[in-house]
Amino acid sequence: MPAKNALSILHSEKLFAEAVKLMPGGVSSPVRAFKAVGGTPLFIKEAEGCTLTDADGNTYIDYVASYGPAIVGHANERVVAALSKAIGRGSSYGAPTEGEIDLAEQIISALPSVEMVRFVNSGTEATMSAIRLARGATKRDFIIKCIGGYHGHADQLLVQAGSGALTHGTPSSPGVPESITSTTLSVQYNDLDAAKKAFEVNASNVAAFIVEPVAGNMGLVEPKEGYLQGLRDLCTQHGAMLICDEVMTGFRVAWGGAQVRYNFKPDITCLGKVIGGGLPVGAYAARRELMEQISPSGPIYQAGTLSGNPLAMAAGIATLEILKEEGAYDTLERQAAALADGLQAAADKADIPIALNRVGSMLCPFFVKEKGQKVTNYAEATNCDTQRFAKFFHAMLERGVYLPPSQYEAWFVGLAHDDEAIKATIKAARESFKSLA
Ligand SMILES: *Cc1c(COP(=O)(O)O)cnc(C)c1O
Repeated sequence: MPAKNALSILHSEKLFAEAVKLMPGGVSSPVRAFKAVGGTPLFIKEAEGCTLTDADGNTYIDYVASYGPAIVGHANERVVAALSKAIGRGSSYGAPTEGEIDLAEQIISALPSVEMVRFVNSGTEATMSAIRLARGATKRDFIIKCIGGYHGHADQLLVQAGSGALTHGTPSSPGVPESITSTTLSVQYNDLDAAKKAFEVNASNVAAFIVEPVAGNMGLVEPKEGYLQGLRDLCTQHGAMLICDEVMTGFRVAWGGAQVRYNFKPDITCLGKVIGGGLPVGAYAARRELMEQISPSGPIYQAGTLSGNPLAMAAGIATLEILKEEGAYDTLERQAAALADGLQAAADKADIPIALNRVGSMLCPFFVKEKGQKVTNYAEATNCDTQRFAKFFHAMLERGVYLPPSQYEAWFVGLAHDDEAIKATIKAARESFKSLA
C-alpha cells in the first residue's frame, strides 16, 4: 500500500495531524480516514459541480458525491438559491413548516407504496425508527437483515454490516450488547432460500425483513431477478413487514427509487441522502394505516428536535425539482453507462480483471482475482484484491479523480458529470490500470 499520496498535499497533512489529536481517526465518519487505501485523507475546501478542491488547491473529479446526496452536483445554483432564501428566515423553529408538506408530497407522489412520511435527521434514524414501527405494528421482535447490508449504525443493525463496518473488519461492534442483537438474524443477500429458511425457523416471531434493494455498501450488487418480489411474498406469507432501505437508492436509481425500478411494494421505506440535497436528512414512510401508529397519532414513539429542518427541506425540494425534470434520469443512466463502458475497456486493455457492476448512476468496479468472475453476492464481493484497489485509488487520485476510498463503497455519477468529466476519468483510468499491470 502506498504510504503517502504522490500529490502535494502539505495543507491536508497539516490539518490531518491536528484533526487526529482532536477527533478519533481525525474524522467524523470512519471511511473518510483512508484506512482501507492508506495515505492521508484530503481535507476538502470547496466543491462545485462534479469537482472537489482540497486544502492545497488540487481539484478532482468527484465520484463520492458525499456518498450519494450530491446527485445534482455540488453547489448547484438552484439548491444554493433555495438555501440562501431559506436561511434568511431562520434555521430551525421547533414547529411545523410548509416545506415539510412540499417534500412529503413529492415523496408520496413518487412512491406508490407510501401514503405518509415522517422526517428524521439521518438514514440511521430512519432505519431505527422503521424497525420500531415494524415491531410495534406486528408485536413481534425478530428482524432479518442481509450479511454485508448496511443500514446505519443503530445497535440492532450492526450485525454483519457493510460499508465502514465491512472495510474495517468489525462485523459487529464492541458496545453492542448481545441482548440487543440476539433478535437480529442475518442471511445472504440475493439468496431467497436462505430468507425462506430464516422465516420458517422463526415462524411467527419475525417483525421485519430489512433489505437494501440494491446492495450498495458491499461495493454494488444488483438484486437477482425475482429476489425482491420473493422477499415481498415471504413477508406477506409470514405476516412480517418488508422494510426497503432506500437511503442510498431513493431518487438515485429512478424517480422514487429501486421499488419503482424493480416494481415491488415494500411495507415501510427508508430514505435519506438524495432527499436532503446534501443537508442532514432522513425519512421513513409507509401506508397511512401503519404511519398513523406513530406518535402523536398512535402509540409508537419517535421524535426529533431538528426533524423536518427548514433548510434541509429547502435543499431537498430544490434537488427533487431538478431530478423531476424531463430526461434527468436518462442523463444519469447515459453518463454512468459511458463511464462503466470506458472503465471496462480500459481494464481489459491493461489485462486487469474487473467485474463492473452498475445500476443506474451507481457503479463499482470490483478487482476480482480472475478474468470473467462475477460479483453477485457478499462472498464474491469480499473475495476481491483490495490491495490492488488501493493502488488504483491512489493512481486515480494522482490523476485528479477522487474515488470512494474503499473497494466496498459505490461510485456515484451525478448530473454535473458532463462528457468532458467522463472522458477525463476514462483517460485517467487507462493510465492507472496500465500502472498496475
Ligand atoms: C448511508 C446509509 C444509511 C445510513 O444513513 P446515515 O445518514 O449515514 O445515517 C442507511 N442505509 C443505507 C442503505 C445507506 O446507504
